[in-house]
Amino acid sequence: MRKKVFAANWKMNMTASETKSYFRRFLNETEDIPASACDVIICPPAILIPQAITQADDSFVAIGAQNIHWEEEGAYTGEISARMVRDSGAEYCICGHSERRQIFEESSEMVTHKAIQALENKLTPILCVGETLFQRDNEETLEVISEQLLASLAGIDETEDIILAYEPVWAIGTGVSAEPRDAQEAIAYMRKIVREQWGDLADEIRILYGGSIKPSNVEAFMACPDIDGVLVGGASLDARDFAEIIQSGLKA
Ligand code: PEP
Repeated sequence: MRKKVFAANWKMNMTASETKSYFRRFLNETEDIPASACDVIICPPAILIPQAITQADDSFVAIGAQNIHWEEEGAYTGEISARMVRDSGAEYCICGHSERRQIFEESSEMVTHKAIQALENKLTPILCVGETLFQRDNEETLEVISEQLLASLAGIDETEDIILAYEPVWAIGTGVSAEPRDAQEAIAYMRKIVREQWGDLADEIRILYGGSIKPSNVEAFMACPDIDGVLVGGASLDARDFAEIIQSGLKA
């Protein structure tokens, strides 16, 4: 049995005081959820990681970064290293989010190096792949997923702890989610690729769906056999909605 994952990506939102009230509300809303039921990961902007860690205290919430640089250290003004993130107490890092790939032109090679940096610094990468609308309309979904995934897996040791996420670009922040059966098909395909590379470890690796998840649709995704969790953007900004997503997702 793979433990379910509920990950929140706050993107460029929230302040320190908003983080404080968010956690107060979120921990209150989720107090009935046993810590062993799932992994809950909140990824605030980097500057808010220490505040989030203080607020999460010894609750069941772990903290992750949204991005890191692919080098250990150096002259990269404005960037943040995996070592800094780990040192701040975070345990996870999103790598290859489509907003990074598209807006900041991150290549699969950069994403792989980021994932390697994360692992070398004891952060679990949440490695995202997904096709654009254009690629989907051209029926290139599986090809794109395969390309992005293989590029990253090639650089990672199979014994490492990683989480994968299928995030179709056209479903992120649009309010239009994938159909659960299409997400299941894409994620089953990702698991097949992992099996071809890493054998039976494919049964252990957790693969999430992300793209316009909300309290009303999460259960349908979580009921799919290969979907082990969700990565939530917009709806995770509301503490009550994110708590409800976890509660509904656990019912599936
Ligand atoms: C995301 O940013 O990873 C995401 C899935 O966003 P949203 O839930 O807003 O589509």
